[in-house]
Amino acid sequence: MPDVATQHEARSSSAHDWPTWPPPIDDAQRDAVLRVLESRRWGSHAGDECERFAQEFADHHGVRHGVPVVNGTVALFVALRALGIGPGDEVIMPSYTFIACPTATLLTGAIPVICDVSSEHLHMTAETIREAISERTKAIMVVHIAGSPAPMDEIRELAREHGLRIVEDSAQAHGAHYRDTPVGGLGDISTFSFQSSKAMTAGEGGLMLTDDDILAEKMWSITNVGRSRGGAWYAHDELGWNLRLTELQAAILRPWLPRLEGEIAQRERFVTELQQQLDGHGLPVSIVDDPEGTTRNSRHLLVLRLAAGADREWIASALEAAGLPVDLGYPALASFGSIRDKVIARPTPRLDTVRDRLLWIRQAQMMAGADGVPHTTRALGAVLRDERAFPHQ
Ligand SMILES: *Cc1c(COP(=O)(O)O)cnc(C)c1O
Repeated sequence: MPDVATQHEARSSSAHDWPTWPPPIDDAQRDAVLRVLESRRWGSHAGDECERFAQEFADHHGVRHGVPVVNGTVALFVALRALGIGPGDEVIMPSYTFIACPTATLLTGAIPVICDVSSEHLHMTAETIREAISERTKAIMVVHIAGSPAPMDEIRELAREHGLRIVEDSAQAHGAHYRDTPVGGLGDISTFSFQSSKAMTAGEGGLMLTDDDILAEKMWSITNVGRSRGGAWYAHDELGWNLRLTELQAAILRPWLPRLEGEIAQRERFVTELQQQLDGHGLPVSIVDDPEGTTRNSRHLLVLRLAAGADREWIASALEAAGLPVDLGYPALASFGSIRDKVIARPTPRLDTVRDRLLWIRQAQMMAGADGVPHTTRALGAVLRDERAFPHQ
């Protein structure tokens, strides 16, 4: 823990006025929510906000069909079910991701296979996935982590070679681009989340995208108690559940789409300026690289890598005390007792070399744009130059 002197310094600077997330609502959102509220068409069968939002979101990502659901976890479940994945099947996913990836897979009855990621960019690669493929593998759950698109060229080539389906978990990558193409249309199905922390949010919410007409209908049906679009109310040909988003949530989200690009650009200004400052100051920390082929990182979180020998816990609490909130990020995925005996955990030697040196700067801080960088650099400079930051060197 920081000592008294550090804490005192910290208190005076921790008053730093960061933007908050989610950002303040705008007039378009206020109008849309009131319109839906007064219409009393709150369910997606009664109104058309959900339908319109799904189509607008799909258009924005250059994909043909969008199906809204209650959240991003359920979106992954519906995507896997639509692909026919269930008991006896294996789904490969990265070890550096949120717990929803394995838990959504377990809901289908399939087995999550947790594989290693690159120590450079923290994504699965063809090499790490290949280590995890068995005769039971059916799909790869690619995660565009922290706004950074996964290296899709090599992953798609491997999937083609082995006849595997691809689900893109894009919960952290609204508006990110890989080789000038938005994420979301680079696999069979992609999934998004609109939970409070995400780049677009209605408190909760989720959505699947696909270019495939049949998968789109299947996902709609699974989400709508097995009905078919335009079919009878009490016809349930598919096994499905009520997993629908509400009209009020869609009303909050629709006006967000035209703002998304500007908000990504604002976060990018923070990162560009911070990169320059880090280069100039020679601090023992760097921004984690993007894979080759990244044309736009949507900057959901900024992942920093501390130099070897760092005491990450001390550094994180000292930064917090200095007015720069940070997160330690994900613990080892396969280490959670709740899933440990239900997954296949591949060794993760690459990730193990860096995991304990990673720190996240949150989206809210990046929303300060270049104006947020002087405070960030000051906090990093003061904390990382303290001898307690690197006791293991
Ligand atoms: C947030 C998140 C999810 C789950 O989304 P929810 O809407 O919270 O259910 C899934 N995968 C990743 C990578 C996420 O960050």
